Amino acid sequence: MWARNLDSDVQTLSGVGKHLASTYAQMGITTYSDLLHLLPRGYEDRTTIVPLGLIGEGAYANTLVEVTGHSYFGSARKRTLKVTVQDISGEGDARASLLCFNRNYLEKVFRIGSRFYLWGQFSHHWGELQSSQFEMVHVTHSIEEAAGYGSLNPMYPLSGKLTQKGVRRHVQDMLSRIPVLEEELPEYIKQKYHLMSTDNAFRAIHTPSTMDQVNRGYRTLAFTELFYLLLLNARTVHLRPHGGAVRTESGKALQNRLLDLLPFSLTDDQRTCLDEILKDLESRQVMNRLLQGDVGSGKTLVAWISALSVIASGGQVAFMAPTELLARQHAEQAASYLEPLGIRLAFITGALKQKARGYLLEALKKKEIDIAIGTHALFSDDVTFENLKYIIIDEQHRFGVLQRAKLREKGIDPDMLMMSATPIPRSLALTVFGDINVSTIHQMPKGRLPVTTYLVKEESRSRMYRSVQVEFERGHQAYFVYPRIDDTGESDLRDVSSMFDFLSTTMYPGVPSAFIHSRISEDEKLRILHDFRDGRLTYIVSTSVVEVGLDIPNATVMVIEHAERFGLAALHQLRGRVGRSDLQSYCFLVYNSPLTEDAQKRLKVLKETNDGFLISEQDLLIRGPGDIAGVKQSGFLRLKFASLTDDMEMIQEVKLLVDELIAQDEGLLEARHTRIRNVLTYAPYQHESQ
Ligand code: ADP
Ligand code: MG
Repeated sequence: MWARNLDSDVQTLSGVGKHLASTYAQMGITTYSDLLHLLPRGYEDRTTIVPLGLIGEGAYANTLVEVTGHSYFGSARKRTLKVTVQDISGEGDARASLLCFNRNYLEKVFRIGSRFYLWGQFSHHWGELQSSQFEMVHVTHSIEEAAGYGSLNPMYPLSGKLTQKGVRRHVQDMLSRIPVLEEELPEYIKQKYHLMSTDNAFRAIHTPSTMDQVNRGYRTLAFTELFYLLLLNARTVHLRPHGGAVRTESGKALQNRLLDLLPFSLTDDQRTCLDEILKDLESRQVMNRLLQGDVGSGKTLVAWISALSVIASGGQVAFMAPTELLARQHAEQAASYLEPLGIRLAFITGALKQKARGYLLEALKKKEIDIAIGTHALFSDDVTFENLKYIIIDEQHRFGVLQRAKLREKGIDPDMLMMSATPIPRSLALTVFGDINVSTIHQMPKGRLPVTTYLVKEESRSRMYRSVQVEFERGHQAYFVYPRIDDTGESDLRDVSSMFDFLSTTMYPGVPSAFIHSRISEDEKLRILHDFRDGRLTYIVSTSVVEVGLDIPNATVMVIEHAERFGLAALHQLRGRVGRSDLQSYCFLVYNSPLTEDAQKRLKVLKETNDGFLISEQDLLIRGPGDIAGVKQSGFLRLKFASLTDDMEMIQEVKLLVDELIAQDEGLLEARHTRIRNVLTYAPYQHESQ
């Protein structure tokens, strides 16, 4: 036997010829290292004897039996041997039948009265315990000596002619040829977190003697993997050029004036988040903070208040929203809050006429404007600031990293506040978005009633229509949302056009209404939404274009049809259009049976909670992390040992460790790229850095 290194070809293993080598190659395995990283799907536990009577339905187990009889069943031409056995493990006298399909010769092997170790999968059929998947080994001496018995066997993913026994042999051969694997974690970390050595960890998952070893092996490898990934993703804040600090003291007076003008006081969460932001603004490091909280939790107000500090110390502010409509809503809100304080605002959109635009841009450049509010139009090249110090971005996930960077270039190290109503699960925020600090508003402003959510079966829609009617009679307004614009004939999905016809002529004749969708011009959409906001329209029928940020307090009904077709986050956002005042609001989720299992879960989550954070956690569990914005870029999806959903606790533990290490030794940060590349031989990350 030849000693080899990890790069050796699998074909040098005994028992692996050309043919198996090509099967392995199809599985992506060409070297010893690849085989080392072929992870078992599970383990068959042949370490203990389970009495026949105690084996779970459908479970594989080891037991000890005596053969008590033979019989045959099936047609004369295709007779099948049935061997009856009785438990002799010492507890009870349970019996089972072994169906020997195509193995009638076993009659000669399993003689009546002989004793065997029996490994198999058992289930009840026809009033008896049966198995057709089994292996038997004669009891000769002790169980330890019976082949395959007494051991914990890894079960590998297979392909082609590969068998479990074969792969196990190849892996063991590989493990016996390679040198001791290089240590990947410092000794003190291994001790502190009770981890194995890298070498022991790999051997534990391939050739374990207990499940406990397997678990510790995985824990070690997952920990190591997370450790390096988090180090890689660690706060780049420390490396950034330091920004000029904002003197928040000078803003205090302005802030107090605004707070005095407000007809309400801030919630505790709003205060806490505001303090966190102000502290960042005061520091000499560039702020990169995410402010998250459900729609209507008062994020934007917090952002405006923080902006006052920047303005008071001579800086300018850019506020960017993803759509014209939202930008306008923010501009109007800002005007009502801030203009009384003498703050100069400009609303910059793509729709501005050339002359007005030229005038505004000039004013912005000369710092005659304190806050520019707008859409993507804000980062066109002709938009320049004299002293851009602070960037606020609404619905940050709708903008790309590059777009944010482009806006950032318009100032010298401006501080950045991103807002999101699509909460990122805390654990992800802490890890995947490692260089972002997070502030969270959990509470809603006082007096808000949680939206009541009903799941409506197709058959009960008439009751729903009546409930909506009652809300209309109370002077309240409604949204009806459908997945399609018009009837394409392909499916029986309800659509905006036909339902608008139905609602406006048959169901609610005479009640003023309109419809919007993506093919309606931006101007027309704005006009309709203004009419809706001012109460000239009682309901609007739309596609999910009303999803983001719209703030119409008098709307108390949200009807979403074919709710099973929307994702959790989208449904939560849509529902967030209502419940925006002290009026009781209702959300009707109309669905068509039968529901898929996932759809059932989604609707149940929505019915049971209004908490956006809980919903995002559930979303993560149901969909997996791949769809959450930003996760793909983070390298987390390439994890081999750790799981974003199952290892949250470990992720947080490792995150704390990494932060601690970096705080102690900033050099670690600079060293991390080369160091990680060298160490992570088993997970070749190509980190797409920002
Ligand atoms: P978000 O940006 O989180 O969606 P906004 O800041 O736009 O929320 O606030 C939503 C509405 O609630 C606004 O009309 C705002 O004036 C109001 N609001 C904000 N904070 C409070 C509060 N503490 N008490 C009552 N109303 C508030
Ligand atoms: Mg908002």
